[in-house]
Amino acid sequence: MPAISQTVTGLSVWDGDLDRGPASLEWSGDRITAVTPLAADAPPAEFSIIPGLIDTHVHMDASAVPTPVDWMTWPIVTPASERTLHVVAHARAAAAAGVTTLRELAGGEVQFSAARGLNAGLIPGPRLLVHGPVGMTAGHGDLFVPPHYPHRTPLADSPDECRKLVRQWARSGADGIKIFTSGGVLSVGDKVGWRNQTRAEIAATVDEAHALGMLVAAHTHTAEGVDIALEFEVDSLEHGTGILERHWETLLERNIPIAPTLLINDAIADRRIPVSDDAAEKARAVVAERDANFAGAAAAGIRFVLGTDANGVMVQFGDQLEELRLMKRAFGWSAERALRAGTSDAADAVRLTDTTGRLRPGLGADFVIVRGRPWEDIDVLTAENIVAVVARGQLVSGAIPA
Ligand SMILES: [Zn+2]
Repeated sequence: MPAISQTVTGLSVWDGDLDRGPASLEWSGDRITAVTPLAADAPPAEFSIIPGLIDTHVHMDASAVPTPVDWMTWPIVTPASERTLHVVAHARAAAAAGVTTLRELAGGEVQFSAARGLNAGLIPGPRLLVHGPVGMTAGHGDLFVPPHYPHRTPLADSPDECRKLVRQWARSGADGIKIFTSGGVLSVGDKVGWRNQTRAEIAATVDEAHALGMLVAAHTHTAEGVDIALEFEVDSLEHGTGILERHWETLLERNIPIAPTLLINDAIADRRIPVSDDAAEKARAVVAERDANFAGAAAAGIRFVLGTDANGVMVQFGDQLEELRLMKRAFGWSAERALRAGTSDAADAVRLTDTTGRLRPGLGADFVIVRGRPWEDIDVLTAENIVAVVARGQLVSGAIPA
């Protein structure tokens, strides 16, 4: 049966790059088929259409019910079959806030299962990309599991083990690889300043991932970690706290995206959510260093894209809207620049230019209908003003205005 063509008309269209004025948008199945401008004298619209948002850095293996749980033990005491349902619930909560693509950066069995279900259209919801982590024993990725617990996420402690783990992730269907070139904030028992893996290990991981067509995202908080990530030509920096002036030339030349994860580090540093003394102290140091480094980097034109580290605990699926507002303020951007960082530029950053991120014929029908014009005033982009979200051509939240 051929897909039925659907249309919304008379709304202002911001297509991911520019304001196209009042237009009609047509889609069939999961694809946009036409964006047609209306006559110049068309009445001003109350509602606008923008591309669905893309969060390039999330973690979905966490409880999605409001009952408080210990986030560290929940994934190890809850069966995988059940955790998959929570991943899908997080995905749908993000979609209700206009986020139609998510990139999970610490993927495993449950995220692969959820991604296959969502991406096959079994459940209406966002697109889900999944990266498999390749990290060392006692590295940032390892220390989300209590130290004496025997069942751990897979680890790699030599160049050969790194290559093998990349290949295993490729076999599982990973879209990319996540590496670590420093310690982290929420990992328990390490220091942010710890080196994670040797140059030889990082070199093997990146080489193998690129050979198998996968992007490499590098978690890093330190300047030395940024040095290593850039030396081995990763595709994105995650957090990027330690970027210094000496990194700008390479970052600009290669147009490397950075996911700044502002809200989560602020929330942990300010103890807006219950965290350990150790995590709060680490986050305060990260925030101070980040603030000292990011203002100059943004002024130099370094490329920041939406990446929240949303994990359903410290940052909720839906807080992406708040993160965009924080980015606009922190980087001195226009509303339109901030919106690009969450749509078209985020799509380009995760190699989805030909799939989503813009309202163009042939791309995915992933869009948000919102009251107001967020590319002129980002503050109108709130959950209350979002009236409908369409992901892959299917309504996932709200109702399309008549
Ligand atoms: Zn993360």
